[in-house]
Amino acid sequence: APGILAGKRGLIMGVANNRSIAWGIAQAARSHGAELAFTYQGDALKKRVEPLAKELDAAVVGHCDVTDPATIDAVFAEVEKLWGSLDFVVHCIAFSDKDELTGRYVETSEGNFTKSLLISCYSFTAIAQRAEKLMTKGGSLLTLTYYGAEKWMPHYNVMGVAKAALEASVRYLAADLGPQNIRVNAISAGPIKTLAASGIGDFRYILKWNEYNSPLRRTVTTEEVGETAAYFLSDMSRGVTGEILHVDAGYHVVGMKNPDAPDL
Ligand code: NAD
Repeated sequence: APGILAGKRGLIMGVANNRSIAWGIAQAARSHGAELAFTYQGDALKKRVEPLAKELDAAVVGHCDVTDPATIDAVFAEVEKLWGSLDFVVHCIAFSDKDELTGRYVETSEGNFTKSLLISCYSFTAIAQRAEKLMTKGGSLLTLTYYGAEKWMPHYNVMGVAKAALEASVRYLAADLGPQNIRVNAISAGPIKTLAASGIGDFRYILKWNEYNSPLRRTVTTEEVGETAAYFLSDMSRGVTGEILHVDAGYHVVGMKNPDAPDL
């Protein structure tokens, strides 16, 4: 189909199921004409990702666990075999031990700190290293972040620290890869009920709080994040790099509780 992504080929990393933000992005990218390939993490998710990929006529290029660099190399080798080059990569990967997504940040263990930063932050750089080699005609790298990088949020804890580091890495990668016309950006999404989000303490309260207090008086959908992603992946954003764009119904501009909001 013709569209703003017609002729572009992209790798989607981080689909777990049909509620994943990566799936919303994949659907939007496909609807705008992109050709897609998916990775999955482990056999349990393979069974979910394969039928979803089929819905979008997408390839599945294999298992990728970012804590195992050999699996990152393997999926990029598959992409090279399939297409020879690459136009965009969508990184929708994050992890922290659920036990530390509640209570006080000060209790974070060294082990979970290291693991959370490796999976949620360093993996984007590891992926950029592989993508750079295949983006011979320029490209677009996109990751997902959250407002908890900028401000304290209850329960977000080490993930807030990881997202702050991820946002800084967007700027450093943008500077390094800009001369090759590879752009690097992030979407800071408002809260959405996904598998990963269900690990965060009091998530339902966070959703309600955002619904009552955001300027648009609602939360956002994976479709809305997907449409903004399509802009970043396309040449419509060709002058934009190093950017963190909020798709959060405007919540990030709010400094105080909406006085008309019901009690929670
Ligand atoms: P999700 O559970 O659907 O996706 C998370 C993905 O991370 C899964 O596909 C999982 O397989 C992958 N992953 C975790 N550890 C991995 C590893 N070691 N190797 C490879 N993949 C691994 O949840 P989601 O909410 O769609 O999350 C996608 C991204 O969006 C994350 O970066 C998340 O922090 C970010 N985000 C989510 C929200 C929200 O409210 N849901 C808001 C802002 C940002």
